[in-house]
This record gives sequence, C-alpha cells and structure tokens, in this order.
Amino acid sequence: MKALTDLIRDIPDFPEPGVMFKDITPLLADHNGLQIAVGALVEHYRDSNASLVAGIESRGFIFATPIALELQAGFVPIRKPGKLPYDVIREDYDLEYGTDSLEIHRDAVQPGDRVVIIDDVLATGGTAITAAKLVEHLGATVVGVGVMVELEYLGGRKRLDGYELISLVQYEHP
Ligand code: AMP
Repeated sequence: MKALTDLIRDIPDFPEPGVMFKDITPLLADHNGLQIAVGALVEHYRDSNASLVAGIESRGFIFATPIALELQAGFVPIRKPGKLPYDVIREDYDLEYGTDSLEIHRDAVQPGDRVVIIDDVLATGGTAITAAKLVEHLGATVVGVGVMVELEYLGGRKRLDGYELISLVQYEHP
C-alpha cells in the first residue's frame, strides 16, 4: 500500500492546533490510487454477502458508493444532525471536548440487512462505533468497518473491539 501512502498528505495543525490531518484529496485525484483503494476494499468484502454499504459523512460517501456498486449492494448515508430529510434515529458520542451526533434514516436499513460501514480515516473510533450502533439499532448486522487510513496511535481499533475492521494504510505516530 506504499502507492497509497504516497498519495496521502499530512497537514499539520488542521483544523486546529495539534491535529495532524490526513488529506486524501491527492489520492482521490489519482486514478490509479483511487482504483487501488476502492478495489482493495471491494476484494475484502467480495464474499461478505453485504446488502448495503453505509458511508459516513462526508468523505466516507466518496468511497462507499463505488464499493457498493461493485458489491452489488445499495448505498446508505450516515450524516451529521439535521441533514437527512426523512425520519431519523440519532446517536450521540463524546469528543475530546463536547459531543457530536450522527443520524440515519429510520427506514434506511432493515433487520436482516448486512451492512459494511465505510469512512476515510479511523482516529479515536468514536465516529465508526456510533455508525455501527445506528445500524444495529435498526436491527441489521454490521459486516465490518473499512477505512483508508488508521491512526493507530489514537486507539480506534480497540474501541471497535468485536467488529471486523480493515484499514489500507496505518500510521503508528502522528
Ligand atoms: P474519530 O471519531 O476520532 O475516529 O474520527 C474519525 C472521523 O474524523 C472521520 O470521519 C475522519 O474523516 C475525521 N478525522 C479524525 N481525525 C482525522 C485526521 N487526523 N485526519 C483526517 N480526518 C480525520
């Protein structure tokens, strides 16, 4: 996955001091890189019998949609509060300072659905575990969580204990 690492740009102190932001826009702009990233996750989930791929707003959407198409599954958006127009369920989660929330349409997944959750970066894992809870509250099964980038030093994998997790690029240090 060296090809992918070279296409991920470090932006220090964005969006706030102390954060090393992993900018995936060079990867998105590179046809080969984009194909490798999407293709690796498609292969990983090829035999998972997934019926839906849920993308987490907003960069998760970019990867989740082509993965869904390749898996012959549907796409479901998991969004920040107030963005989805129909009936939603909401789940709150803690940030370092304060709380945040994610929402999913109440009818977006059904009991019996097998759902892959996709985001660009796994940091503390709060976002991914919240997405998984939303899917499970609607009675569906979480097949796994797939991300391009895992920031190992923030411990997200531990937080997702019990869920299958794949990342394409890992960083041990900021
Ligand atoms: P977390 O809930 O801490 O795992 O944060 C994951 C979410 O925040 C993902 O949707 C990422 O897009 C975003 N994120 C967190 N930290 C970073 C980072 N260092 N670089 C890029 N995106 C990040």
